[in-house]
Amino acid sequence: MRTVSGVVAVLLLVGCGGPQRRCDRTTCASGCCSSDGQCQPGSMSSACGTSGNVCSVCSLDATCFAGACTTFGGSGGGSSSSGGGAAMGGGAAVGGGAAGGTAGGASAGGASGGGAAGGSIGGGAAGGASRVGCAGMQYSEPLPTTSSLGGLVYTPAMAQQYLLSALQLRYPHGEAVVRGGLANPISPQQPNCVTAFLGDTSSGPAVLRQASTVVHECGHFWDLGTSRGASSAYVIAPNLQRTCANGDTTTRGGRTFARSLIKGDAWYAMRPACMNMSSSTCDFYADVYLDGSPTNGTFESGDQGFNSLLEEANQYVNSLASALAFRDAFSGGSRVSERDGILTFMWYLERYLAMARLQYPTAYATLTQDACWREAILSVWDRGWFYLQATNAYASTLGINDARLRTLVETPSLLAEIDSVRGLHCP
Ligand SMILES: [Zn+2]
Repeated sequence: MRTVSGVVAVLLLVGCGGPQRRCDRTTCASGCCSSDGQCQPGSMSSACGTSGNVCSVCSLDATCFAGACTTFGGSGGGSSSSGGGAAMGGGAAVGGGAAGGTAGGASAGGASGGGAAGGSIGGGAAGGASRVGCAGMQYSEPLPTTSSLGGLVYTPAMAQQYLLSALQLRYPHGEAVVRGGLANPISPQQPNCVTAFLGDTSSGPAVLRQASTVVHECGHFWDLGTSRGASSAYVIAPNLQRTCANGDTTTRGGRTFARSLIKGDAWYAMRPACMNMSSSTCDFYADVYLDGSPTNGTFESGDQGFNSLLEEANQYVNSLASALAFRDAFSGGSRVSERDGILTFMWYLERYLAMARLQYPTAYATLTQDACWREAILSVWDRGWFYLQATNAYASTLGINDARLRTLVETPSLLAEIDSVRGLHCP
């Protein structure tokens, strides 16, 4: 559906006539060039871009953010009471905005307000390791508590406050992430990260079951809202934030390649995209996050670069931590895919690094020669394992196909990709 609308819009632009004047990096540095050679602000979903590149038409579930079509791909919050693989693939529409193509519009890259909330975000090594990213299996951070929520009164009108209070009691970092997301709206026209992703407000437990999705999405808002230009910000842990450069694809202002390209590797066949089928042996995350092709002229979620892959992994750790905090809100027998989510993205990170090393030397050098990327990759990785270990005992609730995925992630030749990064980083 979204692809069709994007194609129609492109055809309409092409129909306006050929180039009339030169539009390029020098004449349109802060915007993008439309097909008829006009310099556009580059901040609209109907004409999104920067640095004099050709404007993109963002798909309906993407929004133009800092001159790049950006989609969060949903939180992949699949659930299945039968234990099978029938997960709904997210795809929640934060974006919109493509309809109508409003003229005027804010300056490129604008619209994100506010500075970093919280204020407690600095450098520092998490878990007491001598160097950020080198903790390995010794990584630790305060785990969610089992504090009683009995003192909280729930009303649907106060759902957001209820969630924040519950997070404060059980998972304070999650509360900080939600507040960081609320302080960093994607644009004034978009609903905030709680309103956009908290669907069922019928009861307190219903809200708590969505904490993993809300924290995940608010984490995206916080990270994207504090990213600037070609740099990507990551709030990784309570005292760990990094902002690393050039992580998007070469066609989107960075030095990496589209994340969808890992579908071309030898591992893909082990767990191919579901393509609307329902099976425990297919990868519905691939349908959402590795879709499309970077060269088909249409923006798809999978067109985004390594920076977006790590961003999703970062938030899937938050998803799992939040689900752990409120595991008692899941009724007996129901299963959610939070362990599957982070394991899938750990598998993608390994595969992406392998492909970069073998086929995209500039991308690999960008990610491995820069201490910022090494710290971010290794910290997200270690934190992911930390929460996987912490949720082992609850795998029958917080995972669906996680055992199979763990086997894939623990393939020695793939683990070697992470070890290589660690070898470069940790003396
Ligand atoms: Zn996400």
